Amino acid sequence: MIYIKKLQLQHIIDQAKNEFPNECCGFLAGYKSEQDIHIEKIWVLTNIDKSSEHFSMDTKEQFAAVKDIRNEDMIVIGNYHSHPYSPSRPSEEDKRLAYDSTVLYGILSLEKEEPVFNLFSINKDKKVEKLECIVD
Ligand SMILES: [Zn+2]
Repeated sequence: MIYIKKLQLQHIIDQAKNEFPNECCGFLAGYKSEQDIHIEKIWVLTNIDKSSEHFSMDTKEQFAAVKDIRNEDMIVIGNYHSHPYSPSRPSEEDKRLAYDSTVLYGILSLEKEEPVFNLFSINKDKKVEKLECIVD
Protein backbone atom coordinates (compact mmCIF):
# COMPACT_ATOMS: atom_id res chain seq x y z
CA MET A 1 0.00 0.00 0.00
CA ILE A 2 1.06 3.57 -0.59
CA TYR A 3 0.67 6.20 2.11
CA ILE A 4 0.96 9.95 1.82
CA LYS A 5 0.93 12.35 4.74
CA LYS A 6 -2.14 14.59 4.82
CA LEU A 7 -0.07 17.72 5.53
CA GLN A 8 2.21 17.01 2.56
CA LEU A 9 -0.76 16.58 0.25
CA GLN A 10 -2.04 19.91 1.58
CA HIS A 11 1.32 21.49 0.70
CA ILE A 12 0.93 20.27 -2.89
CA ILE A 13 -2.60 21.72 -3.07
CA ASP A 14 -1.40 25.06 -1.66
CA GLN A 15 1.53 25.19 -4.08
CA ALA A 16 -0.74 24.33 -7.04
CA LYS A 17 -3.16 27.11 -6.08
CA ASN A 18 -0.34 29.61 -5.56
CA GLU A 19 1.18 28.85 -8.95
CA PHE A 20 -2.14 28.69 -10.77
CA PRO A 21 -2.67 29.05 -13.73
CA ASN A 22 0.76 27.50 -14.27
CA GLU A 23 1.55 23.90 -13.46
CA CYS A 24 3.57 23.38 -10.30
CA CYS A 25 5.97 20.52 -9.67
CA GLY A 26 8.20 18.83 -7.13
CA PHE A 27 9.55 15.59 -5.71
CA LEU A 28 7.83 13.02 -3.52
CA ALA A 29 10.25 11.67 -0.92
CA GLY A 30 10.01 9.04 1.78
CA TYR A 31 10.85 5.40 2.24
CA LYS A 32 9.89 1.95 1.05
CA SER A 33 9.40 -1.07 3.24
CA GLU A 34 8.94 -4.56 1.89
CA GLN A 35 5.19 -4.07 1.49
CA ASP A 36 4.58 -0.37 1.60
CA ILE A 37 5.63 2.98 0.26
CA HIS A 38 5.48 5.98 2.56
CA ILE A 39 5.55 9.50 1.14
CA GLU A 40 6.80 11.55 4.06
CA LYS A 41 7.78 14.86 2.57
CA ILE A 42 7.52 16.84 -0.64
CA TRP A 43 10.22 19.02 -2.16
CA VAL A 44 8.95 22.02 -4.08
CA LEU A 45 10.68 22.63 -7.42
CA THR A 46 10.35 25.45 -9.93
CA ASN A 47 8.48 24.81 -13.16
CA ILE A 48 10.83 26.64 -15.49
CA ASP A 49 8.29 26.33 -18.35
CA LYS A 50 5.83 28.66 -16.57
CA SER A 51 3.02 26.95 -18.47
CA SER A 52 -0.48 25.61 -17.71
CA GLU A 53 0.07 22.64 -20.03
CA HIS A 54 3.53 21.30 -19.26
CA PHE A 55 6.39 21.53 -16.83
CA SER A 56 10.15 21.14 -16.63
CA MET A 57 11.84 20.85 -13.28
CA ASP A 58 14.78 23.15 -12.63
CA THR A 59 17.86 20.90 -12.95
CA LYS A 60 19.96 22.62 -10.32
CA GLU A 61 17.12 22.44 -7.83
CA GLN A 62 16.66 18.75 -8.62
CA PHE A 63 20.26 17.97 -7.71
CA ALA A 64 20.02 20.00 -4.51
CA ALA A 65 16.74 18.30 -3.58
CA VAL A 66 18.13 14.80 -4.16
CA LYS A 67 21.04 15.67 -1.87
CA ASP A 68 18.74 17.03 0.85
CA ILE A 69 16.50 13.97 0.59
CA ARG A 70 19.50 11.65 1.04
CA ASN A 71 20.69 13.73 3.99
CA GLU A 72 17.33 13.14 5.65
CA ASP A 73 17.68 9.36 5.08
CA MET A 74 14.89 9.28 2.57
CA ILE A 75 14.69 8.33 -1.09
CA VAL A 76 12.99 9.93 -4.07
CA ILE A 77 9.72 8.04 -4.51
CA GLY A 78 8.63 10.04 -7.51
CA ASN A 79 7.52 13.44 -8.61
CA TYR A 80 4.29 15.39 -8.80
CA HIS A 81 2.82 18.18 -10.86
CA SER A 82 -0.50 19.96 -11.15
CA HIS A 83 -3.04 20.10 -13.96
CA PRO A 84 -4.70 23.51 -13.64
CA TYR A 85 -7.45 22.82 -16.21
CA SER A 86 -7.40 19.09 -16.91
CA PRO A 87 -8.17 15.86 -15.04
CA SER A 88 -5.84 14.00 -12.69
CA ARG A 89 -4.33 11.59 -15.21
CA PRO A 90 -1.16 11.64 -17.29
CA SER A 91 -1.34 13.66 -20.50
CA GLU A 92 0.17 12.32 -23.72
CA GLU A 93 3.21 14.47 -23.02
CA ASP A 94 3.44 13.16 -19.43
CA LYS A 95 3.48 9.62 -20.84
CA ARG A 96 6.04 10.50 -23.46
CA LEU A 97 8.36 11.96 -20.82
CA ALA A 98 7.88 9.09 -18.35
CA TYR A 99 11.21 7.30 -18.66
CA ASP A 100 11.32 5.31 -15.42
CA SER A 101 8.74 2.64 -14.57
CA THR A 102 9.87 2.54 -10.92
CA VAL A 103 9.02 6.21 -10.36
CA LEU A 104 5.59 7.25 -9.08
CA TYR A 105 3.87 10.16 -10.76
CA GLY A 106 1.52 12.28 -8.68
CA ILE A 107 -0.95 14.51 -10.49
CA LEU A 108 -3.08 17.08 -8.71
CA SER A 109 -6.01 18.39 -10.71
CA LEU A 110 -7.56 21.78 -10.01
CA GLU A 111 -10.09 21.29 -12.80
CA LYS A 112 -13.01 20.95 -10.38
CA GLU A 113 -13.69 22.95 -7.24
CA GLU A 114 -12.38 20.09 -5.09
CA PRO A 115 -8.71 19.27 -5.89
CA VAL A 116 -8.11 15.65 -6.98
CA PHE A 117 -4.79 13.88 -6.40
CA ASN A 118 -3.85 10.52 -7.89
CA LEU A 119 -0.67 8.51 -8.14
CA PHE A 120 0.33 6.62 -11.26
CA SER A 121 3.03 4.36 -12.57
CA ILE A 122 3.85 4.34 -16.27
CA ASN A 123 5.63 1.32 -17.71
CA LYS A 124 8.02 1.25 -20.64
CA ASP A 125 5.17 0.59 -23.08
CA LYS A 126 3.55 3.79 -21.72
CA LYS A 127 0.78 1.82 -20.07
CA VAL A 128 -0.61 3.86 -17.19
CA GLU A 129 -1.65 2.29 -13.91
CA LYS A 130 -3.53 4.27 -11.27
CA LEU A 131 -2.28 3.33 -7.82
CA GLU A 132 -4.33 3.24 -4.68
CA CYS A 133 -3.05 5.58 -2.03
CA ILE A 134 -4.06 6.27 1.54
CA VAL A 135 -3.89 9.77 2.98
CA ASP A 136 -2.78 9.45 6.60
ZN1 LIG B 1 0.72 16.57 -16.77
